[in-house]
Amino acid sequence: MIKLPENKIFNIIAEIADNENLQVFIIGGYVRDIIMHQTSKDVDIVVLGSGIELANKVSSQIKGKPKVTVFKRFGTAMFKYKNIEYEFVGARKESYSIDSRKPFVEEGTLAEDQNRRDFTVNAMAISLRKDNFGELTDPFGGLQDIKNKIIRTPLEPEITFSDDPLRMLRAVRFATKLNFEINADTFIAIHKNKERINIISKERITEELNKIIHSDKPSKGFKLLEETGLLEIIFPEMYALKGVETIKGQGHKDNFYHTIQVLDNIAEKTDNLWLRWAAVLHDIAKPKTKHFGKEGWTFHNHEFLGAKMVPEIFKKMRLPQNEKMNYVAKLVKLHLRPIALVQDVVTDSAVRRLLFEAGDDINDLMILSEADITSKNEDKIQKYISNYQLVREKLIEVEEKDKLRNWQPPITGEIIIETFNMPPSKNVGIIKEAIKEAILEGIIGNNYEEAYNFMVKEAEKLGFTVQNKQKE
Ligand code: ATP
Ligand code: MG
Repeated sequence: MIKLPENKIFNIIAEIADNENLQVFIIGGYVRDIIMHQTSKDVDIVVLGSGIELANKVSSQIKGKPKVTVFKRFGTAMFKYKNIEYEFVGARKESYSIDSRKPFVEEGTLAEDQNRRDFTVNAMAISLRKDNFGELTDPFGGLQDIKNKIIRTPLEPEITFSDDPLRMLRAVRFATKLNFEINADTFIAIHKNKERINIISKERITEELNKIIHSDKPSKGFKLLEETGLLEIIFPEMYALKGVETIKGQGHKDNFYHTIQVLDNIAEKTDNLWLRWAAVLHDIAKPKTKHFGKEGWTFHNHEFLGAKMVPEIFKKMRLPQNEKMNYVAKLVKLHLRPIALVQDVVTDSAVRRLLFEAGDDINDLMILSEADITSKNEDKIQKYISNYQLVREKLIEVEEKDKLRNWQPPITGEIIIETFNMPPSKNVGIIKEAIKEAILEGIIGNNYEEAYNFMVKEAEKLGFTVQNKQKE
């Protein structure tokens, strides 16, 4: 018997099940999470009969009658109650044929429904009938696998993965999220079937990848992806980071292991999926920019090329083509800037420039840059950490003084055109740029008056004199 938490919905279901002599069970992730003492946001309910009918009956007995959403095509129905999603489905049997990805679905028994589940730990059911409330049905030893922290398919793994290849990625995702190991036979079957991942849509693949990236220790997932051979297929750019080349006895670091270490570091600091994506992609252009010369190994401009690769990768992976993508590209482009700053004497003007370019993303950039330190040398690490502290203090100081975050130039192009009565031309740009440079260099303050006086001098150099005095 499993002790279920006090839950009004479960009691209502039990009542209905008794009255109508129905077999109803909680199944899947919720059962797994209860046993692991974790909380779940969704509950899957399976009934020997119609899930849609049951959902409607349950809802009609709750005050407020939560709205039931029906997915006729799948024979499922769900409603939300107190922030938890309850999904109802009739027990079903799935059979796959070689020539179609879509299974043939028909009504089935509980056992048949459990057979079609992806992993033993996801295939357990708990009865909701009053006479055996809380009874666990665990035909494949899911309980034992939770104890041993094992991801294993209920049936022959070859068949399970060939039927629905997305399960291969789900195996990696659950192993990562739960910190379990993939059983050897299951692992071998993934390796064998890896090419079949190609029949799965990019959207679904990316959904799993995002969940891996969102877990506490994403490196585990990426190592598994690499070892199973899936990484090379679903994310070749990342796979290309792997390996160390040695010339004249000099090797460079393995950028794959470096990247996933950076990802783990950043996962400790932020839940922001896009900041984590910036960590995934920060060195993505290293293979393309790698060079061995007099200075040894170099990866010149990998940050710029990397930023350019972001839109291509986002498009291919069906990630959003919007400000999230621009944010990731910007962080990739700027990721070396804070470190360059701390390696040097931290001048006000360098800090100003960084603030100016990073804008509101300055804190995220600092987090990325700090996560990028994967040196094993303790002294070096300590030195970096204290330098970062210094940069952070300077950033606050300079920002308070100069307000450069989201900087708007105190002198606009229109003001220049009007003051000197000049046509819109290259010269307007030259003067604007000179003012910006002067502010960033600290030659003048970030205010209208100083910028105006500076503008007059710059314009004079180009042969312009004031025609219209600006009104304050
Ligand atoms: P979480 O919601 O925490 O990510 P979950 O186990 O609830 O984990 P879902 O994707 O919500 O995962 O799926 C619910 C249940 O449905 C799973 O526990 C599993 O039993 C079954 N399931 C989902 N997708 C598949 C699949 N592709 N193949 C077989 N069974 C699946
Ligand atoms: Mg779920």
